[in-house]
Amino acid sequence: MPSAHPSPAPAAPLHPSDAPASEALFARARRVVPGGVNSPVRAFRSVGGTPRFVTSARGAYLTDADGREYVDLIGSWGPMILGHTHPDVLRAVTEAAGRGFSYGTPSENEIALAEEIVARIEPVEQVRLVSSGTEATMSALRLARGITGRSRVVKFAGCYHGHVDALLAAAGSGVATFGLPDSAGVPQSAAAETIVLPYNDIEALEAAFAADGEHIAAVITEAAPGNMGVVPPLPGFTEALRRITRAHGALLISDEVMTGFRCSRAGWYGLEGPYDSGAPDLFTFGKVMGGGFPAAAFGGSAAHMAYLAPDGPVYQAGTLSGNPVATAAGLATLRGCTDDVYSHLTTTAHTIADAAAAELTKAGVPHTIQWAGSMFSIFLTEGPVTNYDQAKTTSSPAYAAFFHSMLDQGVHLPPSAYEAWFVSAAHDDAALDRVVEALPEAARAASESFATIAP
Ligand SMILES: *Cc1c(COP(=O)(O)O)cnc(C)c1O
Repeated sequence: MPSAHPSPAPAAPLHPSDAPASEALFARARRVVPGGVNSPVRAFRSVGGTPRFVTSARGAYLTDADGREYVDLIGSWGPMILGHTHPDVLRAVTEAAGRGFSYGTPSENEIALAEEIVARIEPVEQVRLVSSGTEATMSALRLARGITGRSRVVKFAGCYHGHVDALLAAAGSGVATFGLPDSAGVPQSAAAETIVLPYNDIEALEAAFAADGEHIAAVITEAAPGNMGVVPPLPGFTEALRRITRAHGALLISDEVMTGFRCSRAGWYGLEGPYDSGAPDLFTFGKVMGGGFPAAAFGGSAAHMAYLAPDGPVYQAGTLSGNPVATAAGLATLRGCTDDVYSHLTTTAHTIADAAAAELTKAGVPHTIQWAGSMFSIFLTEGPVTNYDQAKTTSSPAYAAFFHSMLDQGVHLPPSAYEAWFVSAAHDDAALDRVVEALPEAARAASESFATIAP
């Protein structure tokens, strides 16, 4: 007699690239969220396939809705420097949440987080807390314009500073061009005050200042760019930025949202500074300093920061700025970033990068690995890569093949060829073994992709 509840056929083993639960969630998401995601790169557009919907994350691992586990090399794009759900951070967050979620009045943790930052980066005497890196750069730009009374701003092609209207202009390379907006919805007028220059090109900067110096409020740069892949400043470039801006009365804004507290205790500044020509005027921070919660900051000398409301005329505010749960997470994360953690990040990153280089070489795949402290990225092109035009010669199809092979083998890389790979204090030998074991197959997949697209 047939049972009313026949036992299901034994589940067919999932092929590694199947992700039925994520597919269903993605379809559901696309009905109510544009493109199914809340930040475009998560949609896997440049690598194809279905983004994995994560249900939990612990240590070095992500678990997706299909119950599959991945070694995570995204690290939430930087913040998870101690690994996911680190016990000290979890405790700090839980305790803070138990005392209230948001006060709308000042609280002591805001001071403690500011003190932690100020103690690390010598030129930063004061910081204002905000909730995202975008807010930090937007506010730093307004402050620089308020201080100087000038309107124009110089940025470098390939540098990302969040989705601030004036900074989305990245078009134009090789020569100084007035920015054309990269995004619909950014009026020409917002980008018209933005001068986009090729990165690492001192002559282009000198020419821009010779032509327009008295109108330029600031140069904003990623301290060591990580958003076109990792493209560190050539020796002398940061010094030149400082020298030229100072000579023309413009400010230098160092965007350390990605590199801050990642490259070293004091970010990229801690590795490359102090500079003979002087320190940047303003710094922006985010990612690591929020420990996975929305917290970011911008800072500089007390004299410059005094231009901000309520002391000064430059208005800036935020309902959730200095949020008690976010500041608790950030504080616990920064305090957890010991010298041991930084040396572990370096060793771990080099283990992965060395193994990747060996396998790519064996498979005959052109590649260049570039570094900013323990932050690295792998360009699938002959290097070196010193600017955005060169970065764009990386092979996106080969990266997509490499990415999917790694994903099938349980390693989640950033779903874009232009991103740094992020390791954490929780990436132990077991996690590294899984990455290293997956690399030969992934290198072969990249090599086949090169063969297919070769002329
Ligand atoms: C991530 C990033 C930003 C933007 O930060 P959000 O928190 O995403 O707004 C700005 N600048 C740099 C260098 C970044 O890497």
